[in-house]
Amino acid sequence: MGQVIFIGAGPGSADLITLRGARRLDEADVVLFDALVDPALREFAPQATWVHVGKRGFCDSTGQATINALLLKYALEGNTVVRLKGGDPSVFGRLEEELAALALAGIPCEVVPGVTAALAAAAATQRPLTRRGSGRSLSLSTAMTRSGDLHATRSADTEVFYMAGKQLAGLSRQLLLAGWPPQTPALVVSRAGWPDELHSDHTVETLARAGMLHAGRPAVVTVGAGAQVLASGNPRQAEAMPTSGENPGEALKSLVLP
Ligand code: SAH
Repeated sequence: MGQVIFIGAGPGSADLITLRGARRLDEADVVLFDALVDPALREFAPQATWVHVGKRGFCDSTGQATINALLLKYALEGNTVVRLKGGDPSVFGRLEEELAALALAGIPCEVVPGVTAALAAAAATQRPLTRRGSGRSLSLSTAMTRSGDLHATRSADTEVFYMAGKQLAGLSRQLLLAGWPPQTPALVVSRAGWPDELHSDHTVETLARAGMLHAGRPAVVTVGAGAQVLASGNPRQAEAMPTSGENPGEALKSLVLP
């Protein structure tokens, strides 16, 4: 019997994967990877068969049942299977369903964490998610419910919303209904951690205006204390910044592989 290693690829360029993740990729016979994973990561597992099982937005291009079945099939054949997920596997990654399917079959699993999109967005914009005095709690939320309705909360000083990029007007309305004051800062960051990342500043009331700029790009919306521009006003906070070198995959490979 084989095994399955869930690895967080990080939210963007290949060099955001952890060293452990890159090393474990080197052991893979098969890699099942998501749509948002940097193709440069293939350099860490040239020996493996790479299978795309991506899902994007509302389009369920490979159903969850099919992914579970593929994991089982390859592991039962005796392979070391890497399930490579964007960001961190434990954050909006359907990890519970895949772990449950494998546990039922008695297949050993391991989870290697990754950098989730909220953290890459905070780093890219130099907006700490917690702030002494004003930001004592952080919540990672999705505004999308299973039925496709939007639902927003006010459960922490800083709240980061995933999967709301297509519905910013609706999110704005829901945030107001949840009790966020209209002038609360709201920061939208798309493709955080990639060289072409973009961000824009709004308030809860004007959030819908971000729609055009970030259209078609994975985005997170940070609301509350963590969206506030620092008083020091570093000019780099005000512009979209490239974050990675020319070929991060190659550079990292030479660092972690013998
Ligand atoms: N497991 C992933 C989240 C998967 S859900 C993680 O930990 O980051 C997919 C959602 O994540 C997208 O709709 C978007 O809201 C967010 N996302 C993923 N990559 C992103 C990126 N590079 N920049 C901004 N948001 C991103």
